[in-house]
Formats: sequence, C-alpha cells, structure tokens
Amino acid sequence: MDRLPSLFVYADDMGRFDFGPNHPFKPERATKTFDLCSRYGVLNYPWMKVVDPQPLDRELLTLFHEPEYLDLLQEASRGEVRIEMLERGLGTADTPILKGIYEWSLRAAGGTHSSMRDILSGRAKVAFNPLGGFHHAMPGNAEGFCYINDIVIAVKDALRLFPGMKIAYVDFDAHHGNGVQEAFYVDPRVLVLSLHETGRTLYPWSGKETEIGKGDGEGYTVNVPLEPGTDDEIYSFVLDAVAFPLVKAYAPDFIVAELGADTLISDPLTHLKLTNNGYQKAVRGIMPLCSKILALGGGGYDLYRTSRCWTLAWSILNHVEPVDEFAGLVGGMMFGPEMEVGSLYDHPFLTKGEAKQKAFEEARRVVSYIQKTIFPLHGIR
Ligand SMILES: [Zn+2]
Repeated sequence: MDRLPSLFVYADDMGRFDFGPNHPFKPERATKTFDLCSRYGVLNYPWMKVVDPQPLDRELLTLFHEPEYLDLLQEASRGEVRIEMLERGLGTADTPILKGIYEWSLRAAGGTHSSMRDILSGRAKVAFNPLGGFHHAMPGNAEGFCYINDIVIAVKDALRLFPGMKIAYVDFDAHHGNGVQEAFYVDPRVLVLSLHETGRTLYPWSGKETEIGKGDGEGYTVNVPLEPGTDDEIYSFVLDAVAFPLVKAYAPDFIVAELGADTLISDPLTHLKLTNNGYQKAVRGIMPLCSKILALGGGGYDLYRTSRCWTLAWSILNHVEPVDEFAGLVGGMMFGPEMEVGSLYDHPFLTKGEAKQKAFEEARRVVSYIQKTIFPLHGIR
C-alpha cells in the first residue's frame, strides 16, 4: 500500500534555541510536542517522515521583507546593536536582539517553505511545522515574537510556482494574523481568515470584522474578533456559522493553517477560554475542505498544554488515534499534572453568567455582520 508521506518538521537544536528566561516564546514546545507524539505512538506510522528544516534561500525573503530590514536583522543576529534597529522592532521586549535569530528564523521558514513545495508538487500529503507560524512579522519590522514571516513567504512563492492556485489561510491563533492580512489585503488569490481575541483587549489591536480586504481583495479577508471569556461553545458556533462555510465556498486547492494554541484557558497571555476540545473541532473541521494541508505552530505559552494540542492536531491531520503506551508506567512526571496523564483531552469548561452572555452576544453580532457583508461575495446565501 502506497501512501504519500506526512511531514513533521523538527530538529532538536531548533527546539533548544532560547529567547531568554523572561521571554514567553519557548521553541522547546516543539520538542515537547515531538516527545509527546512519540510517546503516544503517532509518529511511528510508516508514511510519516521527520524533516530537518533547512535554511530558506535568502532571495525568497524579499518576496515579503525589505532588504534594509533583513540587513539589520542579520547584523542583530551577529550580536551587533545599532539604534536604527529599534525602529524595526529589533531590541524590544517582544522581539529582542538574539544571537543566531536570523539563522534560526531562516530554518523555521525553510521548514514551512519546503513543506509547501512537497505538498503542492505531490511529494507529501500533509505537513506540520511546529517551528513555524510567525504571522505577525511585517515587511520592514519584527513584532509579536516574529522576525521572518514564514507564512507569507511560502504562500507568495506557492502562487508564483503554481499559478492559478486558490489558497486559504486559516488562523486559529488567539492573536490577529496581522502580517498575513497585510500581505494579501488586495489579493483574491488568498482567502485570509482569522479567528482571534478582539483587538480591544489584545495585541496586535487589529482584526475588526470590518477589515474585509480592499479592491479585488474585498471579501477575501475575514476577521472574527472574539470577546475575552469566549469558550468552546461560542467558538464552535462561529466555526459552524462563518469559518467552515466560507472556506467550503472558496474551495481552496491548498490550506495553510496557523494552529496557535494560545486560545486555551490556561494561556498566560490571552483571555480566551477554550479547551483543546474547541481547538480540535477547528482542526477537524478544515480536514474535509481540502486534501492538501500545511499546518503551522504559532502561539502557545502554556508549554505543556500547547504540546498536547499540537499532538492532537498531528493525529487529526493523519487520521490516527494517540494511545499512551506508557500509561501507568511513568506516571505524570514527564509531561505534566498527574491527573491528566493518560489522556490528551481536556476536561470540558464553559464560561458562565454575564461574561458568557456578553461574549455570545458579541459573537452573534460579528457572525451576522460577516454573513451579511461577506457571504454574498462568495455566493453563500
Ligand atoms: Zn498568538
């Protein structure tokens, strides 16, 4: 039986890269995910391949980034510090000057790009790059923990290599995918759909439902801002009411999915209250909408719960069931709280009272706006 390979992008040394002790972004999440996938037996199937990410060709960077910014980033990566760097976001608390960050980002982006090529040229079925998903990086500056926008570069190059292709970018990260939106705001070849916490309470302060694209791109940017306290039930409602129908109507040839796990209730940076049940629904829901899917990591600052989410995402992408082969043998010491060992699935949680009511009301309002404004442009009644 022949089956196209599934690619899991990972290298130990990439997981060891350190943003500093006080920085919430920990590449170690990828290592935890790799370990958890191994432990749950979902990396052992014969069609699965672990891919060591190779640096992206430098010339591809300028598909999105300004050469002046790239030069400064490269200097910063050598440990040089210059005042102009600050204007480019380099040297801030969110995007500090880190030795080796240029090379690290180039490999992260290389993993995303080579996965795109492998999928679109028929060498792989699906891929997951837990080291990718840097949706905030802008053409001329770093921000939101992102230096190089691997997503935009891979999507732009896909459009160049495979002309006529329709691509859907779906972003389930708790933060608005502002960098990707900026890149394709006037471009109907990419449906950019982002579900995120409202910009009233969370960086990058954008992603209103009224941001719907411009010119030819009108109706091809879709934003679903969500209130703090949004739980699985509300999330499920917006997925069914707008996200899935829109992607289905667009009928993409290729889906790039940003699977940031910072929507979880335990995430220290955001105010959404999902469990991984809501997260799984999002990942499961895109599976029947396109056979070619490239999944990327993104946010996720509760390391243990993020790695559980990503293990589930990898399992869903591959239609396999995680089974804990060591349950009862090693207890919970390896990966987290004892009570949750043996299951990757969260206990249900629902927001209650006024907060729930308010979040649901706002979700209904946003859904109805999108149904009225954007659905007709896609022929959905
Ligand atoms: Zn995020």
